[in-house]
Amino acid sequence: MSEPDNIPLQSLPCNECHAGIMRPRRLTYFTWLGDELITVPHFPAWICDLCGRREYDEKAILWLNMILDPNAGKPTRNQRRTPPRPRPQTGVPRPIHDS
Ligand SMILES: [Zn+2]
Repeated sequence: MSEPDNIPLQSLPCNECHAGIMRPRRLTYFTWLGDELITVPHFPAWICDLCGRREYDEKAILWLNMILDPNAGKPTRNQRRTPPRPRPQTGVPRPIHDS
């Protein structure tokens, strides 16, 4: 008779208290993108059932960074945007006539 292998796949030992179990949960993830606060609802995370330590899913964070970073996965080109120059107004300024 073989021993039952009852280790659940969806749980991890907690690195903080070493006694609790990290269980998968869905949280709202907050991150800053420049000056904008991005919130991602139902973000996969792990929460310890004992001490409450929370860790966001590494893969999900990588995935999120890929989405948020427009340059991700692309070869970085030296694309400098030249600011639009104000055109020098040539000619004599004309008075505006209301008709
Ligand atoms: Zn813990």
